[in-house]
Amino acid sequence: MDEKFLGQMADKSSEEQYSPFPEGYKIGKTKYVIITGSVISGIGKGIFSSALGKTLQDRELKVAPIKIEAYLNVDSGTLSPYRHGEVFVLDDGTETDMDLGSYERFLDMKLTKDNFTTPGQIYKKLIEKERKGEYNGRDVQYIPHVTGETKYLLRNLAIKSKADIVLVEIGGTVGDFENLFAMESARQMIYEEGPENVCLVNLTYIVEPSHLGEFKSKAAQLGLRELMRLGLQPDLIVCRSQHPVTETIKEKISLNANVPLKRVFNTYDVDNIYELPLFFRKQGIDEAIMEILHWEKIHKVNGSKSLKEWTDKNAAEKKDEVTIGIAGKYTGTSDTYISIVKALEHCSTALKTNVKVKWIETTDIETGKKKIEEELKGIDGLIIPGGFGTRGIEGKIACAKYVRENNIPFLGICYGFQMAVVEFARNVCGIKDASTEEVKHDPENNVICILPEQEEVEGLGGTLRLGGFDIKIKKDTKAWNLYGKKDSVRERFRHRFNVNTKFIEKLEKCGLIFSGMAPEKKIMQILELKDHPFFIGTQYHAEFTSRPLNPNPVYLGLVKSAIENKK
Ligand code: GLN
Repeated sequence: MDEKFLGQMADKSSEEQYSPFPEGYKIGKTKYVIITGSVISGIGKGIFSSALGKTLQDRELKVAPIKIEAYLNVDSGTLSPYRHGEVFVLDDGTETDMDLGSYERFLDMKLTKDNFTTPGQIYKKLIEKERKGEYNGRDVQYIPHVTGETKYLLRNLAIKSKADIVLVEIGGTVGDFENLFAMESARQMIYEEGPENVCLVNLTYIVEPSHLGEFKSKAAQLGLRELMRLGLQPDLIVCRSQHPVTETIKEKISLNANVPLKRVFNTYDVDNIYELPLFFRKQGIDEAIMEILHWEKIHKVNGSKSLKEWTDKNAAEKKDEVTIGIAGKYTGTSDTYISIVKALEHCSTALKTNVKVKWIETTDIETGKKKIEEELKGIDGLIIPGGFGTRGIEGKIACAKYVRENNIPFLGICYGFQMAVVEFARNVCGIKDASTEEVKHDPENNVICILPEQEEVEGLGGTLRLGGFDIKIKKDTKAWNLYGKKDSVRERFRHRFNVNTKFIEKLEKCGLIFSGMAPEKKIMQILELKDHPFFIGTQYHAEFTSRPLNPNPVYLGLVKSAIENKK
């Protein structure tokens, strides 16, 4: 790309262009892999991108992922788990899509707000800038302004992360109205950065209708056509299917999308997602990316050896099996609790024991539709996860009581922690109307109340107590032992309510131990019971920091105890 042309685009006084570059940006220093999806949503673009990132990391390349969402929300914080799965919380407090969890787990990285964006964020910035007159009298337009701000975010991430490769995942599907701005920004990126600096990948879906019993590639062809209609020529195509596709299918895709057959790949259902990076490596996907990005000389495969080790460790054979119940109110969609499920998988690998999940719908227990003894029968441990609102909470409280009285290993997460406090207050301390401010206003009995700092807060989006905070751990407690005798750890939070300080003394007198708290504020963050095999509650979401080969200590403690309990 002609430097003069770029300079002109970066120049604010330019009439037609708006393509701001962060200071110090140099074309070609960071390269981009842009991932789009076609045919249908829900084909695992996030997992695909994370696994691909892992293969690039394995080549000793520094990778920085960014997800560009297609919805207008400023972040994922206000989305219902029914519609969009779990809200993943980053250490800096950004509430994101669950794909960011995938990235953190696969790439073992701590991501920040720079790794996530939405059109809502971009428009907000755009409008604020327009109000300040920062567009120099120009009529503000989709092109060049929305695209200009989008490209800026990608380049900004490149500069800030000093990455070799920025991995851009465009949310939604080719043909959506919502992600057109991102597609157009990708097109411009390829033009401005040069084709040797951007690799465009399309993950497409090959249908296999059961009544035909064979693969059909038409939908994928149409999806790819649509992509090309947007001026985007894919460099590499990955066909996603349930079973391995035939060579003929790949040939059809190749011809229809002008992509050489050697750059058409296939990924299908695998038992363990951690096999994917090595699976991609064996097919030569990352090798092809290196070629497209003209990187053959400087890349190293660190390689196959370390990736093989990582894969083998993740596939460790499991001897026994334990069942962990998860008692929540969104149990119909397991994506809601995806990080919890993943944290359990990490424990499963570490302890070489299969961990089976049993979903327990607390609303059914609350309404009496299902009996608690029946529902909790056969479980070796129980998790009460986070949640909001009134529905299902009496079911959660009943579950907490049951596992406390029956010595079943228990982990309460956030709302689960709070419900364990309410249960203890009611049934051990005799505060029979104990509850939380979240469901009713009753200062006399609410052992859970609003955080003081939250009282003045207005609006819902981004206003909870969010992100990583330190936890001071009491010596010689179970928590202290779980965390390897550390006096302080850092975990991620997402809450508005907490243990009412007025009741702490009473709860402690009755035997509840608060073994972790905020260093400078009176916010209780871990609870435990003495005479119980494992009864731990955390005001934080320990699952967000669990990693494939490094499970979070409280989850590991729970599963270990469940294994003991089963014996
Ligand atoms: N609803 C509770 C609160 O806001 C718990 C939140 C959660 O479980 N993430 O404090």
